[in-house]
Amino acid sequence: MTALSSPPAPAVQMDPSLRDLWIDVLRHLEGKLQRSQFITWFNDTAILGREEGTLVVGLPLPMFLGWHMEHYRALTLEIVQQFDSSIRQIVYKVDIGLKDNPQRSIDLLKYFPEQRRRKIPGKQEVKLAEGIVTKILNPRYTLEHFIVGSNTRLAHAACQAVAMQPGGKYNPLFLYGGVGLGKTHLLQGTGTAILKQSPKAAVVYTTAEDFTNQVIEAIQHAKMEQFRRRYRLVDVLIIDDVQFLANKERTQEEFFHTFNVLYEDRKQIIISADRPPQELQLEDRLISRFERGMIADVSLPDYETRLAILSEKAADYEVFLDTHVLQFIAEHVTRNVRELEGILMQAVALYELEQRMPTIKSIAEIMRKLNKDPYVDETPVGFEKPEKKQPTFQEIMEGVSRYYSVSVQDMIGASRVREILIPRQIAMHLGRKHLRMSTVRLGEAFSNRDHTTVMNACRKIADRMQNDSQLLREIRAIEKEVGLKDD
Ligand code: ADP
Ligand code: MG
Repeated sequence: MTALSSPPAPAVQMDPSLRDLWIDVLRHLEGKLQRSQFITWFNDTAILGREEGTLVVGLPLPMFLGWHMEHYRALTLEIVQQFDSSIRQIVYKVDIGLKDNPQRSIDLLKYFPEQRRRKIPGKQEVKLAEGIVTKILNPRYTLEHFIVGSNTRLAHAACQAVAMQPGGKYNPLFLYGGVGLGKTHLLQGTGTAILKQSPKAAVVYTTAEDFTNQVIEAIQHAKMEQFRRRYRLVDVLIIDDVQFLANKERTQEEFFHTFNVLYEDRKQIIISADRPPQELQLEDRLISRFERGMIADVSLPDYETRLAILSEKAADYEVFLDTHVLQFIAEHVTRNVRELEGILMQAVALYELEQRMPTIKSIAEIMRKLNKDPYVDETPVGFEKPEKKQPTFQEIMEGVSRYYSVSVQDMIGASRVREILIPRQIAMHLGRKHLRMSTVRLGEAFSNRDHTTVMNACRKIADRMQNDSQLLREIRAIEKEVGLKDD
């Protein structure tokens, strides 16, 4: 006799004809959307059923709902109608059981595997005529892709002017500023813009370090004359990070000669450094040459500029991050743009490798791992923080909702799935702890739940906080985000 213990109820499968229809629709959608968009928003989706003219599309997470309604409903309907003109509307239903359940939903990576793009082998340098060598310009570093804020307005305008008229008014052009603020981007962008107008121009981009190595090599092989001759053929000379020439007298001397020859010939010279000319530890005659032209600084971007840069880069990498997530990064990563990009790249990796939508929570986690904990207070001692009002319960709810990417409505509602249950319990806990709300009052706020339910929820969270350091950190993070004060 077979064992009587009944196996778990077999997973319901997607109706085969609906599955075929959905795969057809997805194939069309794939052609219309960017890959990452497609994978993010359509993975683990399904058709749950159809009734007359209505098609019920299943989504695996509550946070998908608003996005689909806003961005994909019309497009999806339009495509569905190509296969079945009797469908007149699409309704969505969130069903968490669709997640990672290939019998009930479509595993996009299986059906629509990525077609690997062939990588172009990385070449560092190209030869121009007569043995002149330039480093390859990064195609991403264009003036158009540079986000202009008040911190870079002058520098960017100067680059554009130089691109329009190399060897004109702004010669040399000298850009300075701290690490990771966009100097290399601007320098290369200017080079690219000049090449676009005059493809035959000998535009040489190099770093001061590389220039030094070339000088050393020329000396070693007794080819100094050849070296000089080569540089005389250059139309535009771009040298990055000239602070590197400090204490390298021989290289400075060579650079001085090259500079003079090109300058006399009205060839454009563009230079960057990490500080203004007069602070460079270089020969005075070089410094005075730098001061002849246009000097512009590249400084720290403000919050709005950081946010704009992030949005642009996210679009560039084809990731779609929630506005709150972008705002969170822009708010907490302030030191330079490279760091901003670094965090974004981590988020992209998370998204591509694990197919997880970055949330404030996951970003905060990434930053903590990189030792940039957004919740370590950087307020200098000795300053009184302005007295701020305690947030309202509504604000707490919204904070929790943003942090976990679940809707306030779901938190108030009846669902008991973990993804919603925990945020709900945390919101209750915060209301009780910080606003001293009664369990009765909290019960009312959550669809008239009984006050004992609230009491239990608060107790559970308090218990878990004792043993679960991750949860504790998350709650601290939310408190900080919402502006809840410890008391
Ligand atoms: P620096 O040379 O000043 O150290 P980079 O030019 O290498 O800095 O910039 C670091 C990164 O930040 C680059 O990837 C660059 O594209 C990006 N970046 C900096 N500023 C901006 C900006 N305003 N808009 C777009 N990208 C920027
Ligand atoms: Mg640089």
